[in-house]
Amino acid sequence: MNCVFCNIANGVFSSNTVFENENFRVILDIAPANSGHCLILPKKHAENIFEMSDELVKEAFSLAKRTANKLRESGLADGVNILQNNGEVAGQTVGHFHIHVIPRKENDEVTIKAKTYDLEESEAIRVMSLLKEI
Ligand code: AMP
Ligand code: ZN
Repeated sequence: MNCVFCNIANGVFSSNTVFENENFRVILDIAPANSGHCLILPKKHAENIFEMSDELVKEAFSLAKRTANKLRESGLADGVNILQNNGEVAGQTVGHFHIHVIPRKENDEVTIKAKTYDLEESEAIRVMSLLKEI
């Protein structure tokens, strides 16, 4: 097992564990964007969302929502960003599926969105037509 998140999720490497169940471990990010930044890690290796079963994806996002609820109820967050990067091109740096739950507070100066894209109507139509069979 040379995947760092496999080792963390399965308790081989230590981590600041928030929660654990049969299929997942929730840990604190080692380089948090904000205080209380959590990562949801499946115990079974999958590089990204494309390799995950629908069942496990549902469980992962349900756990992200519960984590978000808890962050808010505990006062650690007023809002949250939920991020999930797939592929280097999308900013994924660790090749083991994970969901970020990032607590947000008023004026915290955390930056998530860097730029916007200028989508023209013809392109919007093309994209919608490519995506219509979701
Ligand atoms: P991503 O860029 O979406 O792949 O996010 C990877 C995240 O994992 C980053 O926020 C890192 O700070 C975090 N990370 C990397 N190594 C560890 C580790 N050993 N323990 C906890 N978090 C880690
Ligand atoms: Zn792994």
